[in-house]
Amino acid sequence: MKVNVKIMKNDSSKEISVSSALIDNLYYIIKETYLNAEKIEIDNPTNADNNELGDFLTYILAYPKGVKTPQVIVRDKFINTNNHYYDKFKNRVLVCFSGGVDSTGALIKMIDTGKNPIAIWCDYGQPYRNPERKAVESICKKLKVTLIEATLDLSDLIAIGGERFGHVFPARNLMISAIALCFYPKEIVLAGLCDELIVPDKSIRMYNEFVKYFGVQLYSPFVTMTKTEVLCLWKAKWDKYLNANETVSCYSDNGNCQNCSSCAKREVAFVASGYSDQYPKVFDNQHKLIEEHWFSRIDIFQYERRTDMLIALHKYVDKLTPKLQELVNLNYKKYKNEIDVRIKELENLKLQ
Ligand SMILES: [Zn+2]
Repeated sequence: MKVNVKIMKNDSSKEISVSSALIDNLYYIIKETYLNAEKIEIDNPTNADNNELGDFLTYILAYPKGVKTPQVIVRDKFINTNNHYYDKFKNRVLVCFSGGVDSTGALIKMIDTGKNPIAIWCDYGQPYRNPERKAVESICKKLKVTLIEATLDLSDLIAIGGERFGHVFPARNLMISAIALCFYPKEIVLAGLCDELIVPDKSIRMYNEFVKYFGVQLYSPFVTMTKTEVLCLWKAKWDKYLNANETVSCYSDNGNCQNCSSCAKREVAFVASGYSDQYPKVFDNQHKLIEEHWFSRIDIFQYERRTDMLIALHKYVDKLTPKLQELVNLNYKKYKNEIDVRIKELENLKLQ
């Protein structure tokens, strides 16, 4: 299949297309997964070992929990037909981009360290693709970064499997990385945070093994960090490039609804890092989510997520709902020691 690509730099743009045996095969296994296949057989589109690649692809598809996903069997025959690459960006750093704090931070970190990155964004038929496109285009323009905009319409597949998979789109990051490979990158950056490495194609295994199968290093510069820590660094070093408030992680009409789980997580990071010093309305609007879904799991949260959340909520404790006040006060006392350690850690990051 052909992937249509628009390459945009400042105000000029150019349209090309790329394709590869890897993209064809990933499309095929995603389709079969949506169609509820138990076993998928493909010819090997890489130089990797058949069994190892089959095992890796099976792992990538195995999400979310509770949904039965297929086993991928890779056959002996090596194929590399249909490889149509673009060679003007050879050996550049490609950053998988979505316009949120994490991927924008990654892009800026690459700029700041002189790596001259290119952003790649994919329209694969996701529900919020239009506001997402607006955000990535506007940020790349401000940062003067070349943007590769790839279009791969999978909306018919998403419609088929949507009920079983919810908002999860299997192998999405792997597919975007496969498109990135068509540009001969030196390395691919996929920004994953330490408390969000849950999806198989944004997991430690993905970061560790990608190079083995596809010959290019894929990594996250924030693999040991949380969103709060990224924002501490941002405040200390990157504000000269872009204000972090210009990133978008909520795809409501106005891009900042203050009434969804994405906005709630984002505001925790903005407040806990000290990037923002305003009371976020989402702490009111989503108090139920915070009371019921977050506090019921607070003891099993990773240390960073737990402390960041308590630091942020405690800052505005008087403004919270009575129930939330009670939960915050109780847990702030309970976790006081680790919160003190955390506050010092965050302060140190800001000194960098
Ligand atoms: Zn929102």
